[in-house]
Order: sequence, then C-alpha cells, then structure tokens
Amino acid sequence: MKVISFMRDGFELVPIEVELSLSPGLPQITFLGLPDAVIRESVGRIKSALRHQGFELPGARQVLVQLRPMHLRKSSRGLDLAVASALLWEMGQLPKPVGETPPRVYGELTLKGEILRPDDLEDLPTEFGSAGVLTGPGGPLGFPVLAVQQLRDLQSPIWVEPRGDEDSLVRPSLPDLRLNAASAEAAAVIAAGEHSALLAGPPGTGKSTVADLIHGLLPPPAAGAFALAKRIHRARGEPLRWRPLVKPHHSVTSLAMTGGSVPPQPGEITRAHSGLMILDEFLEFDPAVQESLREPLETGGIRLARAGQVRQYPARFLLVATTNLCPCGRYLPGRDELCRCTRARKANYLARLRGPFVDRFHALLFTPRWGDSFDVDVSEIRQRVDAAVEYRVRTRGQLHPNTTLGEDEVRKGLTAFQQKHLLPMGGLSRRRSLALLRVARTFADLDASDEIRNEHLEKATEITFRSFRELERVDA
Ligand SMILES: [Zn+2]
Repeated sequence: MKVISFMRDGFELVPIEVELSLSPGLPQITFLGLPDAVIRESVGRIKSALRHQGFELPGARQVLVQLRPMHLRKSSRGLDLAVASALLWEMGQLPKPVGETPPRVYGELTLKGEILRPDDLEDLPTEFGSAGVLTGPGGPLGFPVLAVQQLRDLQSPIWVEPRGDEDSLVRPSLPDLRLNAASAEAAAVIAAGEHSALLAGPPGTGKSTVADLIHGLLPPPAAGAFALAKRIHRARGEPLRWRPLVKPHHSVTSLAMTGGSVPPQPGEITRAHSGLMILDEFLEFDPAVQESLREPLETGGIRLARAGQVRQYPARFLLVATTNLCPCGRYLPGRDELCRCTRARKANYLARLRGPFVDRFHALLFTPRWGDSFDVDVSEIRQRVDAAVEYRVRTRGQLHPNTTLGEDEVRKGLTAFQQKHLLPMGGLSRRRSLALLRVARTFADLDASDEIRNEHLEKATEITFRSFRELERVDA
C-alpha cells in the first residue's frame, strides 16, 4: 500500500512516498530510508491510537515502512496518520481508497487516535495539495482538505474547499507626495528594472524618501518567488500581503544579516527575498556586514554551514542604500564649498565607498542634482513603472526584471554604431558595462521603445558609470 505524505525541506513541505508492506516476523513497525528520531518515536503513538479506536494490531507480522526518496534524511510531523491509515488499508480493516493516484495523507495522532493537523501543512505548495490532503480538522488552506476528527472516521472525511482570494496581493498605498523630475525618473528606473542603487548626497535632499517610495512602486512579484517569501514570513508569524520591505539598523551583525547559528537560521537577506532591502547610511554598517551581502547579490541565495549542517536559503532582493559623501554630510563631487571636513577625512570616508562592494550597485545617484521644482505626483511614477513592466512582458515575453538580463540578451538591442561609439571606453569592467546595458534597457522600456536609443544609453551612462568615476576623482 502506497500513500504520499510530506516532509520538511527548508521553508516548504515536499512529497515523500510511504510504502507499507506486511511480512511474517516479529510484531513491530520498522522504518527504512533514513528516518529521524521524531519518526521512530511515532511507532508508540500509532499503536496506542489503533488500540483506542478499536482496531487490531498486525499480530505476528512485521510492518515495513519504506520512505522515498531514500537519500534525504526524513523528518515529518505528519507521518503518524500516513502510516496508521496505510496500515488499516493494507490489513483490510478499512476499504482501500479508490483512484489512480495514491492518497495524500498528513496528520499527527494523539494516543487516543484523534487526528491533529500540524500547522506546517500551511507551508505545502498548492500544487502538491491540489488533489486534496487527508488530515485533521481546521480552517481552509490553499488547497482542498479532507478533514477527519479521529481514525475511526477515516472513510468519511469532510471536504473543505480551498480558501479564495485572501492570498491576493495588496500593494502599499503611496504617500501624498510630489517629486522633482530627476528624482521621479530615478525612482522609476530603479523600481521598473529592479536595479540595485546607492543614493548619495547631503541630508535633506530626499534620498531616504525615494528609497522608501520604491517599495510601493515595485511591480507585483513573480508568483513562485512570492509564495516562498510568504512561507518564510509565516514561519516568523508575519503574514505577507506585498513584497517584503526589510530595513536593518546599521548596528546589525553579519550573523543577523545573513543568518547562521546552529541549526542555521535565516537572516535579514532571506526575509527580504522577493522584496526590497533598504540600508540607510550605508557606510555606518560594519564592513563585514557589507561584505556578507556579496554572495546573495551575486547568486540570489546564501549557503550557511555551521557545525556540519549546511542549508541553502533564498535571498534575491532589490538593494537600495543611502549614504553621505563625507563625515559632515555636505560634500558633493565638484562642490566642496559647504563641506567642513578636512581633505584627509573626506578622502578617508570616500575610500570606503570605492571598494569592490560598491561596484555591486547597478546605479549611483547624487541626490542634490535633483533640483527643486516638485511637479511629479508619485502616482504618475507608479503608472510609468507599471507601463514599462507591461511593455517588457508584452513585447519580449520577459517575466524577470531587467536587473537579471544576460549580456547577450541586452546587447541585441544595440546597433553596431552604438556598441562602437557610445559605450564609455576604458576602465569599464564587465560588471559596469552589464549594469549600464541593463539600466539602458529599462530607460527604453519606460519610453515604450523597442530599440535602446542614444538618449537611453546616455542616461544610463550617467548613473552607472560617470557617477562612479566622479567618486574616484575626489582626492586627485
Ligand atoms: Zn564634509
């Protein structure tokens, strides 16, 4: 007799096959296939539950329970019910369920044979539960549930319809705010392409305002990534209705940032999966914390190894950081008149912004260049972002944001002339040139333009190349 049950793998439950057979031998239940202690302890509960519910134990027969896939170490809170019901069906104490696919069964048993629904059943991806899961009573889930109070009622479960649109996204409402044209354009390009950005400039120039605004400007997330984000947040008791916003304080440790400990726990970067991370006053963060962001920014995940345990956690997020350019905060490239810092202090400060880490940002924007004519309503920016994303999906069938475009994909949009004459020459690393091309693609999408025009390249060059260059010139 085969049934499908589930076991935990990171943030979700995945199906395992439970095959039960009876053979002559000692009357005992034996698990094959790397069961953990929780599973081995379930034997006592299963026997007690069967007895209390008036069922017979298998007598002088050995019960073998094979768990597949074999290579994974099994831990499952819902295996009690899977084994008990497979045993009742196999022994003929209850009629076997009809149907081509093995039944899906997941529940805990009390010693008296009542069935409890483990709360981690909530984490089962909807597709695995689409045929209905036999479990204990409780409210509706994202898939149909066959609810049973106790073992005796196994043949007459109550069908619970999956819940409806509670899962729908709720985009944050935007503040009643107007921006100047340059900052509106910066916000639009960052949000539409999901390009990581460092906003630099004196206090009061609106850099934090724009960073915060991005959250409500972001387009809806990819369905799969968001379902995973919801499970990550549910594990922490935080329901999620929109892409997460994570704003760690600059005192955060690298352990809290990336996760770790024993067993490895997820950190802030995993909480930010599928959403936005804002680091206010980027240079105040410990260099070790800045450094720890390199792996997730490159790979979209983090591999944590502690005390022989290895976990891979997802961590693909948009990073937006803000910073001053000197200790007093008033310095800007080409405008030192307001800054009171000595040349040495300033150079020292800026040196920290020129490390390999800063090169990971797609764009660097100096906020005071944003002018003081506040005539763009934030709702207009959102419309531009939505239109650009809609354009991208409709014309190229591209579901992923431009920030993950490959070099070949994005070079396709350029003419030979542009490639030869309009890309900045010299000192352009592969990473910078790829950032430039991706951001140029987003400027083109914002203009609903199939081709990347010269003006798109020009705007992208300004924030992905020239601004980084200006930082380098400061102490020359
Ligand atoms: Zn200064």
